[in-house]
Amino acid sequence: MKKNTPLAKRRKTNGKPLTRSEIMSRVKSKDTGAERSLRSALHAEGLRFRVHRRIEGVAVDIVFVRACVAVFVDGCFWHGCPKHATYPKSNMDYWLPKLAENRDRDRRQSSKLRRAGWRVMRVWEHDCLPPARRTVKRIADAVNKQLETLHGRT
Ligand SMILES: [Zn+2]
Repeated sequence: MKKNTPLAKRRKTNGKPLTRSEIMSRVKSKDTGAERSLRSALHAEGLRFRVHRRIEGVAVDIVFVRACVAVFVDGCFWHGCPKHATYPKSNMDYWLPKLAENRDRDRRQSSKLRRAGWRVMRVWEHDCLPPARRTVKRIADAVNKQLETLHGRT
């Protein structure tokens, strides 16, 4: 059980590990359960936002346009979550550089957006299933603070 990650999970049917393409098709999914789940919690909080917008050439998961807040929901496996960073034992030489590249790209994209004046927030998939109360509050607080700073109101 301890070796399980959401993506290295064994198939129930025959116990075989997922193939590389099966893993890829999961991690590349644009609209993950974690994202949907966070979005509905934010919506219930009264927040309004855009989804899957491109800003400065960066695809952002959840965008608060007026507040200039960009939220990314990072998959635990794909983005190297410190809590769930257990990788498939096979093809390590394939996965490790790939995951390192992803983390580098995350950092580059975050700083690009910050330089352009955006408040960037990255939340882990594991904090969105279901969304942790503090995660929702952290985003709501950031949005309100930004609105106040940028537009002088809350
Ligand atoms: Zn995680």
